[in-house]
Amino acid sequence: MPEVLIAGEALVEIMRPEVGQPLDEPGPFEGPFPSGAPAICADAVGRMGRFAGFISAVGADDFGRCIVRRLAASGVDLTYVRAVPQTTAMAFITYRADGSRQFLFHLRGSAAEALDPDAVDARYLQGVAYLHLSGSTLAISAGVRAACLRLVDRVRALGGRLSFDPNFRPELLPIEVACAAFTPFVERAAILFPSGQEACWMTGASSPEVGCRMLLERGPAIVALKRGAQGATAFTPAGMVHVPGELVDEVDPTGAGDCFAAAMLVALLEGADTEQALTMANAAGALAVTRRGPMEGTPTRQTLREFLARGSVRTLQSRRRGS
Ligand code: ATP
Ligand code: MG
Repeated sequence: MPEVLIAGEALVEIMRPEVGQPLDEPGPFEGPFPSGAPAICADAVGRMGRFAGFISAVGADDFGRCIVRRLAASGVDLTYVRAVPQTTAMAFITYRADGSRQFLFHLRGSAAEALDPDAVDARYLQGVAYLHLSGSTLAISAGVRAACLRLVDRVRALGGRLSFDPNFRPELLPIEVACAAFTPFVERAAILFPSGQEACWMTGASSPEVGCRMLLERGPAIVALKRGAQGATAFTPAGMVHVPGELVDEVDPTGAGDCFAAAMLVALLEGADTEQALTMANAAGALAVTRRGPMEGTPTRQTLREFLARGSVRTLQSRRRGS
């Protein structure tokens, strides 16, 4: 039975091969790459060797099969990944020269909207330590939000904890609407995974640190602030801990946040303290950006261990060099 349960969209990502190629002109695309924030997180938990259960829906089509094949290979339990008549969800994506991304989603009306957590048997929820949800899922529709909230309450009633990545998708849901819609999830969360911008949006704070402290007052045990190449900071009632970013060549930033959350949950599940968990999450996020494609850089337990071992050697060397 799942230790980490993830509910939400799976989609294929179809990307422009070069930076700065707009989506409103003909040109080449690369893909399909299996993707979707919750799917990436499930994939990463599976590859790290823990029992990940994924609740989702894909189309009975080639894109759906592409996703299912990948998740199965990563050891994710797909009992509740339904194949439905609608087309598998898609996201077209291009990277701008400044490093930002532009998405064009086909989520509403796709298989992703047919997510049905109510169908999950109560026995499957027993023993779930963490239920992980993403704001990108809540942005699909009010119906999906209500169904996810029912799932949260069922899991919490059985002793499981909610992990929530706000993952705003302004293309699907305006920021103010999303902030209001996320409130019941923030209030029930044991762990929050905001970026700096998201912490500010959710609280009205002018700095990420202030925003994270305000979020902490809303009840979670940990607010893990993701800072891209700068690493990550965890805020807990006991204080703050920062782990600097690992030095890597960023090839594709998509999926870093999802691998980060997965590694943090796996580490906490295994009894790590906040700093140890943050270190593992930071390394997982760094590895994720080194490969092109949202799931292509998802680390296994082995690659994560090797990377952390190498990383500490590099840190020692740079300290000796005085840099
Ligand atoms: P996404 O939504 O694209 O998956 P995110 O915006 O939620 O990502 P980021 O802050 O981009 O989250 O990345 C999550 C974590 O991954 C960071 O906190 C950091 O630990 C690691 N990370 C991301 N980018 C880099 C990078 N260029 N170098 C090193 N580590 C990185
Ligand atoms: Mg994110």
